[in-house]
Amino acid sequence: MSYADIIIETSHEKLDRPFQYRIPEELKDTVSLGSLVRIPFGRGNKSIKGYVVNISDTAQVDEDRLKDVKEVVYADTSEKAVDNLIRLASWMKECYGGTLINSLKCVLPVKAPVRIRKTKQDIDTGAEDYEKVKEIILNPEQERIVNAFKEGYEAGDIRPVLIQGVTGSGKTEVYMEMIDFVIRKNKQAIMLIPEISLTYQTMRRFSARFKDRVSYLHSGLSKGEKYDRFVKAQRGEIDIIIGPRSALFTPFPDTGIIVMDEEHDASYHSGQMPRYSTRQTAEEYARITGAAFVMGSATPSLDAYYQADIGNYRLFELNNRVSDAKLPRVHIVDLRRELENGNRSIFSEKLKSLIADRLHKKEQVMLFLNRRGYAGFVSCRKCGYVYKCPHCDVSLSHHRDGSLVCHYCGYTTKMVKNCPECGSKYIGGMRAGTEQVVEKLHEEFKGVKTLRMDMDTTRKKGAYEKIISAFAAGKADILVGTQMIVKGHDFANVTLVGILAADMSLHISDYRAGERTFELLTQAAGRAGRSDKEGEVVIQTYSPENPAITYAAAQDYKGFYLEELSYRNLCGYPPLMHIMKVTGLSENEDEAYGILDDAINIAKTHRVQVIGPADDGLSRINDIYRKCLLVKTDDHKELIRIKDEIEEARERKKDTSGWIDFDFDG
Ligand code: ADP
Ligand code: ZN
Ligand code: ZN
Repeated sequence: MSYADIIIETSHEKLDRPFQYRIPEELKDTVSLGSLVRIPFGRGNKSIKGYVVNISDTAQVDEDRLKDVKEVVYADTSEKAVDNLIRLASWMKECYGGTLINSLKCVLPVKAPVRIRKTKQDIDTGAEDYEKVKEIILNPEQERIVNAFKEGYEAGDIRPVLIQGVTGSGKTEVYMEMIDFVIRKNKQAIMLIPEISLTYQTMRRFSARFKDRVSYLHSGLSKGEKYDRFVKAQRGEIDIIIGPRSALFTPFPDTGIIVMDEEHDASYHSGQMPRYSTRQTAEEYARITGAAFVMGSATPSLDAYYQADIGNYRLFELNNRVSDAKLPRVHIVDLRRELENGNRSIFSEKLKSLIADRLHKKEQVMLFLNRRGYAGFVSCRKCGYVYKCPHCDVSLSHHRDGSLVCHYCGYTTKMVKNCPECGSKYIGGMRAGTEQVVEKLHEEFKGVKTLRMDMDTTRKKGAYEKIISAFAAGKADILVGTQMIVKGHDFANVTLVGILAADMSLHISDYRAGERTFELLTQAAGRAGRSDKEGEVVIQTYSPENPAITYAAAQDYKGFYLEELSYRNLCGYPPLMHIMKVTGLSENEDEAYGILDDAINIAKTHRVQVIGPADDGLSRINDIYRKCLLVKTDDHKELIRIKDEIEEARERKKDTSGWIDFDFDG
């Protein structure tokens, strides 16, 4: 007789533990690890679903008391991959809190709810008719890294590898070389990239080299399409998967390497429970599977670079752009001076003259603005009132059709003529959005051809790819966009990058504001002059002396790292200290506080610093109150112990409505 331990699908924290069931003879061959099965549960034998997390041949209780598995909903075929993923899920539950069922749902392969239709590749890879592979001979800097990697791999050096390489230094070529080496050993490769907008060009380069042995995932795929790709991965029909953070959980039979490109990117931190760090989770998964783990970035996160600094990661540098392409020349423009000189336009004189020059030379320009929509928030210039969403407590965005829209819950109202607070008529949109930049460009430069890339223009499936390939094909002179255009794109004819308002990300209320600004500026600057033509960058700002701006202008990562680390040290922030954010959520404000009271009492019995409780940055979303608390210490394990105690205390409580959410170093 065999028995299955099953984690049931429920939101009750108290039921988040394995229950044992008998596997009846007729299902013996179909039930496997990771299978989704239907079982009778509780006194009423209610039929519910659950995941099989363990199979054994001993009953833990009296045989007669065990019920039978009723039905297999979906079976998994790759036992080894699923076994590893289940282990990863329990590690995630330990580290990030929440329930095991939540972690399992996050890592286990999607089960297709529909009959699988034959899927067509929705990224047309041409990119069987593959793009010609560029004959590339690695330069000495690249070769040194690849060789050191191979030697380490053969010798069983399991330390993660961090490549800090300036933009355009040939990191992607290095990854492909490493991946090639590993898949020749009959293992598989996971290539993580931050944004779906990068899928297209990464896929093109990889499929040119690896042909139909590579596939990709992204959030725009349907469940059926994802399922189809997972099945291919399980069956060994592909060797490489490219995708965002969730691609880490691809059920390959024998994962040999995990590459994480643009390691610093904020999208690698999961926005929902379990709020996992992709870097830590990939590191753990590499440990479980015996795979190599390689990260790369021009601007590694402070946390990752610190790990390299203290010897936990192997650090390699790529300090030069390939084929002698020079790093761009950077001009910092003080916007206060522009105003003094009577220039009220969103383009400084410097930027205007450089754009005109590029248009004349038929070279391309990218303009970057960290803002979406026509105009940003609406405020009163007389009294300072800011128009906010009544449900979410975030400022509403002014859209061109005259509406005010909440970007969290979708609440929409009409634009007002007078300030609701003081009645003045000086109420309006405060800052330019990408749409307005495009408008101004057409006023300033007659006949200019523009493309715009932001959340609004990329909503439709395939829209990213369309805009990028149109720009790459020279169908526009200027690409205007939000941070989406900053990441990794490689356009040979772009020789000018303008950052219209560097300050926008400097003043967000986050200890990482400086780091984020440095990243954005360095990456944006890196888009200029990628080939033989030299590039220039204009950074417009109201704070030209800020270190995030000056170090980015100098493309000096190490300088920024040291300065920022000493600030973090001084103020007690990660990576030197660790922060656990505990959020209490409830429809009832007092209850949200109540949830935190218990947490505070527990935290106070430990040697940690407790800050709060306070309103979360967004204190109410969809009429749910969010109250938060920060727990700080230099001992990460201590935070996990506190989290465990808080969760245990909640489980013991009878009446637990509302819920709790943990975020580590988020
Ligand atoms: P990164 O990922 O660091 O931004 P890429 O790998 O995209 O850099 O390289 C930038 C460009 O240089 C790409 O077009 C790439 O094909 C090319 N390249 C990279 N390495 C070499 C090399 N050794 N010789 C010639 N071209 C190279
Ligand atoms: Zn007012
Ligand atoms: Zn709202």
